[in-house]
Amino acid sequence: MTTHTDAQNAADFYDFEGALPPEERKTLLRTREFMRDQVAPLVAEHWAEGVFPRELIGRFRDSGLVGLPYEGYGDDHAPAASHLLTGMMAMEMSRVDASVATFFGVHNGLAMYSVQAGGDQAQRDRWLPGMARMDTIGAFALTEPLDGSDIAAGMGTTARRDGDTWVLSGAKRWIGNATFADLVVVYARDVEDDQVKGFVVGKDTPGFTAERIENKTSLRMVENADITLEDVRVPEADRLQNISSFRDVAEILRATRSGVAWQALGVMIGAYELALRYATERQQFGRPVAGFQLVQDLLVKSLGNITSSWGMLLQLARLQDSGVFRDEHSSLAKAHVTARMREVVAWAREIFGGNGIVLDYDVARFFADAEAIYSFEGTREMNTLIVGKAITGESAFV
Ligand SMILES: Cc1cc2nc3c(=O)[nH]c(=O)nc-3n(C[C@H](O)[C@H](O)[C@H](O)COP(=O)(O)OP(=O)(O)OC[C@H]3O[C@@H](n4cnc5c(N)ncnc54)[C@H](O)[C@@H]3O)c2cc1C
Repeated sequence: MTTHTDAQNAADFYDFEGALPPEERKTLLRTREFMRDQVAPLVAEHWAEGVFPRELIGRFRDSGLVGLPYEGYGDDHAPAASHLLTGMMAMEMSRVDASVATFFGVHNGLAMYSVQAGGDQAQRDRWLPGMARMDTIGAFALTEPLDGSDIAAGMGTTARRDGDTWVLSGAKRWIGNATFADLVVVYARDVEDDQVKGFVVGKDTPGFTAERIENKTSLRMVENADITLEDVRVPEADRLQNISSFRDVAEILRATRSGVAWQALGVMIGAYELALRYATERQQFGRPVAGFQLVQDLLVKSLGNITSSWGMLLQLARLQDSGVFRDEHSSLAKAHVTARMREVVAWAREIFGGNGIVLDYDVARFFADAEAIYSFEGTREMNTLIVGKAITGESAFV
């Protein structure tokens, strides 16, 4: 009899992977192998040290896994990968390590999609090929020290046009990859028309500095930075031509928020798999703790959260692929799946008893990483307000 403890993919109880067409499934399996062979051995040490392993950039470059959502720029200039594959890749990465998945999501999602959706064709041709090869690494700078959830209204970073250049001034906070990124997409408010615009800023531009945020307790391998912009001069040619207000930024977030929900699913799966294995190995009262009803309750509730979240995200990806995809669809998934993730990592940690708080057993890393994912790309509260407005017609934003 096959039990789901020894199955290749114990968490895929309903065979969601089977929804991928064969070619895309191969890419998912390549992602799994890449994470197992190239990434997993680096994780524990770098997470503890709080640094991103730079050697991973070269490994990703050789992997053929970058740029796949962008038609003509990814692997062998193939057609764009489906949203289902892109989502499952984010899940697969987070199942091993959410910091690496976040590094990848910031570059391959937030930064590249800003260029794809916000740039004109000449700008796409200029930046996307290098980014798809990871010759240039991208970052995405929206959040500020004083404005997080209310960034749409509160953005303090300004852009002032001066002939053929723009002068950017202000500060950004939490910007992932920014300590080593080659280019940072910076959002700033045009002092002339009060609208948000996007700018591609090179790391060596005078007046631009990025300082690593130390002492994080979550996603420690992601290098987040405080950015200072002191009269940074950017040519008009480096202003993303198709971003003319925050509405355009919101469209980018709509697409990437679903990716974060997939990431949360991956974290659940990683934690659940660890807990399931531990429960079958750890003996108390002369039997594996997996044999106790109360432990089985935690495992089964975890599998229920994973399975229901996976079903939700499968259908969300179908909506995205069909072009029927609204802010509230993405927000509901982000809010709901990250809340389910928080339950699962806590139950997994619980099953490890005291060992659940020691990094050597890995589950503590999943437990800690869940917290940042719960809060970034729109907190649960903000995404709830987006859905609340959509279903009631009443805006509860204050
Ligand atoms: C590890 C990490 C990586 C990140 N990476 C990036 C990045 O690469 N680029 C980037 O631009 N940003 C990034 N962020 C920023 C992230 O998106 C913000 O942290 C997030 O949007 C929340 O903003 P805040 O932290 O300022 O919280 P705040 O906005 O200060 O919120 C504090 C609390 O108040 C609640 N709240 C606020 N307003 C309301 C309201 N109207 N009603 C009810 N509750 C409310 C919030 O939900 C939250 O619980 C990252 C953050 C982290 C932690």
